[in-house]
Amino acid sequence: VNQSQQNPQSYTPQSLLPTMDQTGKRRWLYPDRRDGRYASRRRLTALGLIAFYLVMPWLTFGGIPLLRVDVFEGQAYFFGQVLHVNESNLLALVLAGLALFLLLATLVKGRIWCSYGCPQTVFVDWVIRPIEELIEGNAHRRRKVDSGPLHPQDQFKKVLKHVLFLVVAAIVSNTFVAYFVGPERLRHWMLQPPSDHPVPFFVMTFIMLGFYADLAWFREQFCSYLCPYARFQSVMIDADTPTVTYNAKRGEKRGRSQSKEDQRGDCIDCGLCVRVCPTGIDIRNGLQPECVMCARCIDACHMIMTNLDRPTGLIKVMTQNEYLGQTVVPMWKRPRVIAYASAVAFLFGMFLLKTVGRHAVSINVIRSPGAPYTQMPNDRYGNVFIFQVNNNTGRDIALQINPQTEGVELLCGQCTTTIPAHNELRISAIVSFPRQSKLQSAQFSEGSSGIVFNAPILSP
Ligand code: SF4
Ligand code: SF4
Repeated sequence: VNQSQQNPQSYTPQSLLPTMDQTGKRRWLYPDRRDGRYASRRRLTALGLIAFYLVMPWLTFGGIPLLRVDVFEGQAYFFGQVLHVNESNLLALVLAGLALFLLLATLVKGRIWCSYGCPQTVFVDWVIRPIEELIEGNAHRRRKVDSGPLHPQDQFKKVLKHVLFLVVAAIVSNTFVAYFVGPERLRHWMLQPPSDHPVPFFVMTFIMLGFYADLAWFREQFCSYLCPYARFQSVMIDADTPTVTYNAKRGEKRGRSQSKEDQRGDCIDCGLCVRVCPTGIDIRNGLQPECVMCARCIDACHMIMTNLDRPTGLIKVMTQNEYLGQTVVPMWKRPRVIAYASAVAFLFGMFLLKTVGRHAVSINVIRSPGAPYTQMPNDRYGNVFIFQVNNNTGRDIALQINPQTEGVELLCGQCTTTIPAHNELRISAIVSFPRQSKLQSAQFSEGSSGIVFNAPILSP
């Protein structure tokens, strides 16, 4: 154990999990930071995404939220399109499309989601760690402070750091809640005493503490042990997927030459690529599930190679086929890429077709559970239905549902009414018909949209 602790580079993924020592305790990481091409790109992307995340719940388009899944109104808003709770099939299309898009992106670009888009990486790498570095100093200093007794000024710094982490967690979690309840309701909750709304207060506190625990303490453990996406990595990629790769052919035998006869590769075994790694792995041991493709090791090694005046790219993003010198298959000739891209196009195409091409009003007919039919006066029978009516436009619509089948009558309090913009109505109605009519179904029309729809009839 002592030998391993003194030399963290002796950890190998085969023998040990990278952030756990041989006694099973967590090995706290102090990832060093080096600037570089990838760091600049990732920083810029992260700042853009954070701004997007913070601003989006507040934005509206034509009077409706730009992006929200409102759990109170039972509506989802997607950039001008409104989905009602009875259109969850459309929401399923979007979610399935996004999931497949993630598969496609992984196949084509590797773990680009982890390195650029995942909130875990974005907030930990570009908000939490910079705060820590600003208050407690660089990796070397933090490691030194944590390994000895804490002086009062170090204790003060730790308290200050955690207060800022709590502020970050509060902002992140409240913004998260705003995506589901809207900023107006959130503001109301925040300005009123918790006793006025104990359940939302409990939920918001729970989410905030969850974010705090994750950002301040759990960090890379989430990627290494909890995130299911990392576990599926090996089945999502193939030999033409770019991954962060150490060029062992060029780098080995690693280390500094001791004599003329001692021929070494380009890797001087400085260990910087391991020290900067936020998940604590040594990429020289090959691709590992913990690698989030952040490319910190690439920037670090690039700096070392530049300082040594050697060609850069000892660690770089490349595919397995490139590394082995085999033919690189163009993207559009890879069957899996074509299959995933077609499925994504199909799902998003269906979504667009079903939302943009919707009538001004859409109607779902549901049989009311319970009695199959009701005996009514004048030798008539009745079926109870619920008409779920959605107004898919941004204006109020005068609704008028009329029976079109001869002999059928509609007993309904709201079949002539006004349905507000982007709203949904559930109308209970009795459809009555003469006993001897032997109807299979009744036809109705909705006046303002011209929709004609059927309701199945049950009779004795
Ligand atoms: S940073 Fe480059 S030179 Fe240093 S150990 Fe890693 S691969 Fe070798
Ligand atoms: S091995 Fe390199 S790319 Fe992978 S997580 Fe570590 S630093 Fe990032």
